[in-house]
Amino acid sequence: MDAQANYQRLVSNIVALESAEALLSYDQQTAMPKKGIEARSEVAGKLATLVFDALTSNELADAIKALESEDRLQPEVLASLRSVSKVHRRMRSIPADVYEAFATDRARGQAAWEEARERNDFDTFLPYLERMVGYAKQFAECYGYTGSPYDALLDIYESGMTSQQLDGIIQPLREQLVPFLQELRDNGQAPDKACLEGAFPVAAQRKLSLQALSQLGYDFESGRLDEAVHPFTSGIGAGDVRLTTRFRETDLMSGLFGTLHEGGHALYEQGVPTTLHPLRLAGGSSFGIHESQSRMYENLIGRSLPFWRHFHPELSKAFPQFASVETETLYRAINTVTPSFIRVEADEVTYNLHIMLRYELETELMTDRLAVEDLPERWNQAMEDYLGIRPSSDRDGVLQDVHWSVGYFGYFPTYMLGNLYCAQLFATLRKDLPKLDEQITSGQFAPLLEWLRKHVHRHGAAVEPVELIERVTGEAPNSQFFVDYVRSKYADIYRL
Ligand code: ZN
Repeated sequence: MDAQANYQRLVSNIVALESAEALLSYDQQTAMPKKGIEARSEVAGKLATLVFDALTSNELADAIKALESEDRLQPEVLASLRSVSKVHRRMRSIPADVYEAFATDRARGQAAWEEARERNDFDTFLPYLERMVGYAKQFAECYGYTGSPYDALLDIYESGMTSQQLDGIIQPLREQLVPFLQELRDNGQAPDKACLEGAFPVAAQRKLSLQALSQLGYDFESGRLDEAVHPFTSGIGAGDVRLTTRFRETDLMSGLFGTLHEGGHALYEQGVPTTLHPLRLAGGSSFGIHESQSRMYENLIGRSLPFWRHFHPELSKAFPQFASVETETLYRAINTVTPSFIRVEADEVTYNLHIMLRYELETELMTDRLAVEDLPERWNQAMEDYLGIRPSSDRDGVLQDVHWSVGYFGYFPTYMLGNLYCAQLFATLRKDLPKLDEQITSGQFAPLLEWLRKHVHRHGAAVEPVELIERVTGEAPNSQFFVDYVRSKYADIYRL
């Protein structure tokens, strides 16, 4: 067998195992009966070992080496080789006994975090968190880096991005966003949210979500919508990209925007050509690019005036109380800015500030400028500096996110990058589609989707994030497009 065929055989085996993992996990979160958890965990554990063994095998090492010495590889094969070999080398760099200890401590860490958050007790979580920080530092050394150890971790989620680049993106963002938020709070006219209050039967909410998804172009013959405690999207395989949302009877918009967000993720993966699947390139360019697609549909489209000019009548059909509300009033109500303690509840203006704070703390932890025990105080101070509010409990502060308890350091910045990439892509999109507002107002979402398919989706993971943004927008990733977008939108809504 030639080198390429051998490599593709091994990689497609890994893809098949990962597809089975994804399906089991999806089922666990949406449909599995409660008592199935023990047996399911065992199956999931065995499958995870098979995936780990396949990704770190000597056979794959040889196949990668053989293929690396070939020239004239097709671009997709080359992209696959770049991405798979990176994961392979990273996973092999960690000694097996260290990885096993990490997996055990991670499970304990998550359990300790759940309990600590419940009881608002940072001190009991502290030793577990210290261990996780220790692993992150150790892994960074194993993976290797040229600049900061943080870069080695960031690269897992946002391939090719460095903390130096990130600092250059964040600094102007911080300098403009913090005073703008202050200006909104001091001089802005906050919208009236009263029209969003009420009880909204879940069955009608579900119908509305399904309707929105199908209008946006989500293909229900290649996916489905389910409900889960923590909404997520899962690309199980070619022709099967599923999403979940969560409905609350008293909060209509949380369910709908959850659907639009996950819908953006799902449309992305539905747009990846089937030829990229067996090469392990179906999952999207990076976490940040993935998030740019979800934010596009949730915020830049879903929270826009043209969208509500189109969707308001649909909403009124489902919930007649909205028939007497002005579209403009509704639009302003769903775009209020309120500094809050909890990241996942944050609005478009404040969201990135939550991320900046986490990024700063993470880099300080990784470079020994901050001790884990000083985290709560440092967190609360940063909240005050950026958002003007100080949490009165760690539950509303440093204990709110699961990420650190399971060793995800370097992950948070991708949420912010998603917002920034999204605004940057959207500026080019608008130039290419001068009639976008009219199209959306009349419910034509196909030109938008076609543009995203052509410029983003069809590449899957074959193009790295920074290169993708530069190729499409002609500029390196930066925060100015986001700042301009937020300023113009919210200065108008808040009548500044
Ligand atoms: Zn997302």
